[in-house]
Amino acid sequence: MLKYFLCCFFLAHTAFCLAEPLVDAKPSTTSFYNNAFVVHQLSPSLYAIGEPNYYQANYSYLIVGAEKALMFDAGANLQHDITEVIRTITDKPVAVIPSHLHFDHLGGIARFDEIWLMNTPYLRSFKKSDGLFHIPESVHLGAAEGLALPPLKVSRLIQHMEVIDLGGLQIKVLATPGHCLDEIVVHDISNNILLTGDHLYPSWLLMGNLDDYIASTDLIITQINPHTLLYGAHPDEDSSKIPAMVYSDAIDLQTTLHSIKAGTAQGHPYKNADLIESSIRYPVNKNISILTDITIIGGESFSY
Ligand SMILES: [Zn+2]
Repeated sequence: MLKYFLCCFFLAHTAFCLAEPLVDAKPSTTSFYNNAFVVHQLSPSLYAIGEPNYYQANYSYLIVGAEKALMFDAGANLQHDITEVIRTITDKPVAVIPSHLHFDHLGGIARFDEIWLMNTPYLRSFKKSDGLFHIPESVHLGAAEGLALPPLKVSRLIQHMEVIDLGGLQIKVLATPGHCLDEIVVHDISNNILLTGDHLYPSWLLMGNLDDYIASTDLIITQINPHTLLYGAHPDEDSSKIPAMVYSDAIDLQTTLHSIKAGTAQGHPYKNADLIESSIRYPVNKNISILTDITIIGGESFSY
């Protein structure tokens, strides 16, 4: 039943969201691999690797510096090797850091030679006496799809707000809890691009903790500017569209979150026969909404 509910949850999450995205990204090149992955080159150093045929239509991102490349998320696909796709793009050493530890962002993670996580007490608690990180099912949620995650060998722990030089390209990693406790975003400072994971994308957002979501969004706003381009981990109902956003989407989210906190936002009870037993749905703008106070059918709370 859990599998059914979670599948419906994510199907609803991707299939019944709001309207068209503000930004219809125009990638310079597009390539397809095994009908599983599609690669959009967004800039000389940034590639979106999408899985438009996967029901959650995840998008992962590859940032390529002169010396090193970094994958933000590892895709969802287990059958096909996402690192083979990456090798068609770059021969630089590649590390991967997940936006968070839900199963749909970790599909190919064990295929990477170098795995990074954030250096937080929460994530360090998963390191056991064998030196490996054992991500619990309660975090991974992969049982919903019959997936198990092997223990991970983590080669580097990244500090909150740490700046990493990939070779002529600097990125900053921010811990941004709110969707879940371990959510992060990656800011490509050199190119003014923010990769937002599940914190912000042009569809339904799922709030795990209001105060964290507010604090993280406030932090994000201090790091970006009106010219920043933002890319999320899930598109709207058209899975072929890159989940691209602009600065005003982040501002709209911030405004909505503070209004929710102040009790002045206009939310409406929302439930879904397949998944959501109860929630409050707040419009952020014409593309984005956010669900709060989420109880999954069966009584489980999404909050933390
Ligand atoms: Zn996700």
